[in-house]
Amino acid sequence: MCGESVRTYRYRLHPPGFPAFERCIALVWCPGCRIYESGLVRVPAGEALFDALAPLAADARERLLRKEAALVDRLDGLQRLGGPDRPGGTAHRGGAAVRR
Ligand SMILES: [Zn+2]
Repeated sequence: MCGESVRTYRYRLHPPGFPAFERCIALVWCPGCRIYESGLVRVPAGEALFDALAPLAADARERLLRKEAALVDRLDGLQRLGGPDRPGGTAHRGGAAVRR
């Protein structure tokens, strides 16, 4: 119940053209409490997702994607996380930071 704005980042698991392209991982976390959760979400193929890891070398990128806690740490330091899919932000109230 820290009242911080919950942050969200979504990324694709599969390259374009892959049948499961629309299946993405959504990470949601509270920067105040460091609570995070992840879940599978569907993002239409036509929707471009901001790739926060694009500047990283392939191996660094893979390391982060294998370890969600490290990924959240990294993302939390970034100003820009992509689409405002929660306009105005959702303040963290209650136990878990995420609603799937
Ligand atoms: Zn919190």
